[in-house]
Amino acid sequence: MSSVKETVLEINLAHLTHNYTYLRSKIRPEVKLLAVVKAAGYGSDAVVMAKHLEKIGADYFAVAYASEGIALRKAGIRTPILVLHPQPINFSSLIDHELEPSLYSPRILKEFIKVAEAKKQKEYPVHIKFNTGLNRIGFWENDVEYIIDHLNKTNTVIIRSLFSHLAASEDHNEKEFTVNQINSFKKTASEMIAKLGYRPMLHQSNTSGVLNYPEAHFDMVRTGIGLYGYGNDIIFDSQLKPVASLKSVISQIHTLEPGETLGYNRAFKAEHFTKTATIPIGHADGIGRQYSNKKGFVSIQGKKAYIIGNVCMDMIMVDITNIECKEGDEVIIFDHTTSAATIAEGAGTISYELLTAISPRIKRIVIDSN
Ligand SMILES: *Cc1c(COP(=O)(O)O)cnc(C)c1O
Repeated sequence: MSSVKETVLEINLAHLTHNYTYLRSKIRPEVKLLAVVKAAGYGSDAVVMAKHLEKIGADYFAVAYASEGIALRKAGIRTPILVLHPQPINFSSLIDHELEPSLYSPRILKEFIKVAEAKKQKEYPVHIKFNTGLNRIGFWENDVEYIIDHLNKTNTVIIRSLFSHLAASEDHNEKEFTVNQINSFKKTASEMIAKLGYRPMLHQSNTSGVLNYPEAHFDMVRTGIGLYGYGNDIIFDSQLKPVASLKSVISQIHTLEPGETLGYNRAFKAEHFTKTATIPIGHADGIGRQYSNKKGFVSIQGKKAYIIGNVCMDMIMVDITNIECKEGDEVIIFDHTTSAATIAEGAGTISYELLTAISPRIKRIVIDSN
């Protein structure tokens, strides 16, 4: 592959297909796969991801906010789209764009029915979210009565699915908690189904639920990070292929004499002769200040070059004292060999945060080898 001339995020569609196929192989053939493409497809490009996933057979999409779903509809995506965390102010445009809301509280349910009635909707598909322990959003078990009362009065909406979200499906020390969440969801779902008289789809698993809890696959799984190539576990990571690679170039090389300092606040002080490279990516691009002072590193000529001093808004400086390289050479921030999970861990965070932080000003390049 030819080397890059500026900071770019390369998006590899063959890797996306690989991950999709791998995750599919983990679920029963009749289980639907919902692809989570919120937050710009985990920092890549939601439209590019959704178009490719639609082509290879994703059954459903999910986004967090209505605006993200509207952007997908405007790009021509026809697959059903679940909006995980909508607000009443968006309900009208959500209906106009045939997006399906998660209804997660009495207030949200009432508001949605009101707007849908005003827009003369019949059997508009909605999804009921139950809280089983994450305590973030969702109805409580004892809201079943309330939901049924409100739905029985109207044919404005129809429940397409009942769902819940796992709090610690990647953490083997939390198995007991997760199993309790699964059992609690099963119980609430059967109560709902008995009272509704029809059976909506059930879903509870995120990526780590897909990989660790087959008993929680139900009728559909919702996978995000796995599609982008991360399994929250070294075993699964080795089976998946990171879709996004973040690359840049060396803008300039400097040499520091012992005692000289580098960058804002003079955070790095050279103890001996130090060769540094300045790279055009900074905290405004998603490489936060937590990567400063050797918490983060990049790869140059296959060697680790630690970030020294404070991360600037548009630049980082790295130590290349022991690396043979020149201005214009390619720099890898993360790719399939040094993954975003590894880089994130060095600064005490997770792949999700590093990936979704990559700012829109970085050019996306789609590599489609199909
Ligand atoms: C973001 C999200 C997911 C996807 O989680 P991954 O760990 O990325 O697979 C699934 N369900 C809900 C409700 C989410 O908010």
